[in-house]
Amino acid sequence: MSDAAFYGPSSTLTIDLDAIAQNWLLLKKKLQNGADCAAVVKADSYGLGAEAVSRTLFLQGCRHFFVAQYAEGLKVQAALATVAKSFPHSPVSGAPVVVDAPVIYVLEGPCGAPPTEFIQSGLVPVLNSPADIAVWRAAAEGVGRKLPCLLHIDTGMNRLGLNGTEVAALAADKETWAALDVRYAMSHLACADEAAHPKNAEQLDLFRALSATLGRPLRLSFANSSGIFLGPDYHFDLARPGCAIYGISPLGGSSNPMQGTARFEGRILQSRTIDRAGSLGYGAGYAVTPGQKCVTVSIGYADGYLRSLTGRGKVYIGGQACDVIGRVSMDSIIVATDHLTCQPVAGDWAEIIGPHQTVDDVAAQAGTIGYEIFTGLGIRTPRLYIGGAA
Ligand SMILES: *Cc1c(COP(=O)(O)O)cnc(C)c1O
Repeated sequence: MSDAAFYGPSSTLTIDLDAIAQNWLLLKKKLQNGADCAAVVKADSYGLGAEAVSRTLFLQGCRHFFVAQYAEGLKVQAALATVAKSFPHSPVSGAPVVVDAPVIYVLEGPCGAPPTEFIQSGLVPVLNSPADIAVWRAAAEGVGRKLPCLLHIDTGMNRLGLNGTEVAALAADKETWAALDVRYAMSHLACADEAAHPKNAEQLDLFRALSATLGRPLRLSFANSSGIFLGPDYHFDLARPGCAIYGISPLGGSSNPMQGTARFEGRILQSRTIDRAGSLGYGAGYAVTPGQKCVTVSIGYADGYLRSLTGRGKVYIGGQACDVIGRVSMDSIIVATDHLTCQPVAGDWAEIIGPHQTVDDVAAQAGTIGYEIFTGLGIRTPRLYIGGAA
């Protein structure tokens, strides 16, 4: 049978903004003691689209957004400007007053732009080192007012943030402290996805001790997605979930309380029946015999379907699991379909991520984590949004 001609996209990534909103609301509901719930939208919301996600969550009441980099922050800010409500005029001065405006924090710190530009943007940097603090203090002195910032205290990641010695030095430096408008002191958990890991309690104790030396009142931010599930001791004033909003499981091992948010599908380009003994794919490493049936799907490592899925990947066609056979190519994979009663034709779709297979399932096949799968999805796949505020 010859393949029918078809037209349309080679792959699609359909993002359910209602599911994203519901995941965020579930996380928010879990928070105790009045803790606020932020949204981490770095890396284009883990590949799913920071603009649509930020707008959707803003409309659900989210007011704290975290990005990694300055340029990401500007993008989110522009997106939020289209939905942020503002009263036209202040009753007193006549100046516009933004009600309940969103705040966008830049995890990398103030390095993304010259200080005057950074201040102008209104983005809030996370100060990760004494050098960052010096830059922000000088900038504050330059403009003659305290400047908002977050202060990152390292409690065991040894990645970013002040160590204990540096926190003590800052606590003793009243002038520097007075120049900073520290909105939150934050720290980051290294093993929150392993609830029983002793490092969690160690970091918690150290965070309490180090933040206490800076004096009160000081609001605190500690938990990422997994940290929220470690219980109210970890909630403090502001939680910073990322992965769980997007449906990646925050609970390593146990069942996922979050709902899936994305469907990643590839188009079937060809359906074939092998007519002579040989092999398929690069490297000729997969042997085939006459009569074998397979299809070629328009997804490859350029789309984020990792080459390490060679020999291990599965896709779903018509709701049935099919093995990926032969090497993953740049633009395509080959999928065994002998066991299907109805052979697919060109133009049909194969589900890579969706109702039958989660992003965590694909990550497990590839020997990585859902975060890497989502953030690695290629830019040539069009993002289609359903629900929410795209
Ligand atoms: C990425 C990140 C988060 C979000 O982590 P998830 O595990 O995705 O919830 C929170 N805080 C910091 C500092 C981060 O870098």
